[in-house]
Amino acid sequence: MSSRSVAAKWGTINEIQSGRAKAILLAAVLLVGCARGEDYFVSRRREMVQEQLEARGIRSEAVLRSMTNVPREQFVPLSVKRQSYRDGPLPIGEGQTISQPYVVALMTESLNLEKGEKVLEIGTGSGYQAAVLDEMGCQVYSIEIVASLGRSARAALDAAGHGDVQTRIGDGYQGWPDQAPFGAIIVTCAPDHIPLPLVDQLREGGRMCIPVGPENQVQTLTMVRKRDGRMETEALIPVRFVPLTRSSDGSAPALQSSSEAAITSSGE
Ligand code: SAH
Repeated sequence: MSSRSVAAKWGTINEIQSGRAKAILLAAVLLVGCARGEDYFVSRRREMVQEQLEARGIRSEAVLRSMTNVPREQFVPLSVKRQSYRDGPLPIGEGQTISQPYVVALMTESLNLEKGEKVLEIGTGSGYQAAVLDEMGCQVYSIEIVASLGRSARAALDAAGHGDVQTRIGDGYQGWPDQAPFGAIIVTCAPDHIPLPLVDQLREGGRMCIPVGPENQVQTLTMVRKRDGRMETEALIPVRFVPLTRSSDGSAPALQSSSEAAITSSGE
């Protein structure tokens, strides 16, 4: 073999090797990139729990653990994903918002939930609050009035491993009578008065956390406790939530459960 052809052969081997090396390098960069992407949210989440929740007095281990585990970034639209752990609310479409992490923690903690307790949420929105409750081991039922939000929350809950959460599209003012009574009710949109159907659906000793007040003004986050069949209320803090809306004629739109929604959408 001439020295030229040996050099040519080596050249080819070198090229193949450098091609392989490039491919391996690219795969490594991608892997590290993905891992760092995940790390990014994991560390933002830990910071959020320490700086926004623990530092402001959230003490419930169950709430802190749940909010350390639930990936909030999976419940917000792509356009605001990088801001998932911001100390404030974020837009989720349809003019609605996902609440500030601290408000989610405060409301959840105020309910003094026990594992296995049946909880009703009014205003599924992104599905994040429902996932936090599910992660704490509660049996969660959640109602959303805006159909498109209800559907995307359903998908996000399933994707994040919270398929046990029961969801419905409809007017939450009426509650979920066939699943009542509930140990706790959390309302994440603000009516101007406490809806009586919700009080009726609390069990004796049950608690409800609800913002009450006029639209687009400061409302009062209120704790309602049912004792001896009577309603006791306690004002917590001033808050600002999106309003609890009703269907235009005041009647409740037909309730659609997640299984019914799935049948409807597969028929579209
Ligand atoms: N808990 C949500 C925050 C939702 S914002 C989360 O974790 O992302 C409040 C939601 O309440 C909005 O999605 C709004 O559409 C919904 N809502 C308003 N009025 C309602 C009603 N009467 N019944 C059910 N949902 C209602």
